[in-house]
Amino acid sequence: MDHAPARGGEAIPGRLRGPLTRSEQMARVRGRDTDPEMALRRALWSEGIRYRLHARDLPGRPDLVFRSKRLAVFVHGCFWHRHNCPAGTREPKSNQAFWRSKFEVNVARDATVKDALEASGWRVLAIWECELRRATQVRGAVDRVRQTLAEAAG
Ligand SMILES: [Zn+2]
Repeated sequence: MDHAPARGGEAIPGRLRGPLTRSEQMARVRGRDTDPEMALRRALWSEGIRYRLHARDLPGRPDLVFRSKRLAVFVHGCFWHRHNCPAGTREPKSNQAFWRSKFEVNVARDATVKDALEASGWRVLAIWECELRRATQVRGAVDRVRQTLAEAAG
């Protein structure tokens, strides 16, 4: 079954077109989105692109799964997954050894997961949180997903 992209399990179709809630307005004022993964999910949903969430039977539990096209999408937090961007290269000031080993584990796990998925015929698309900050970026990410789906056989 497909999942509607709403918090708390409720589907709110057409939500994106409605007026902004107060917290969304505040988020705009602060210049960042409330939640990058939700932004992507809502945008895909409003484009009629359907997916499943957090497939437990696949390596790494991909965030979004397009099963018939064997495409797995991960939305990675830049800090935790060490993206090559300002957020991803930020070093915590204290407990550096602890953080460094934690980051190494995350990065190594991401690579292992990607290899495992690809070895069983999946395509893997990683989308970084910093690539989902603005509406234009979200549209770009939707295009990447759409393009990758179009390239996939079957
Ligand atoms: Zn980033």
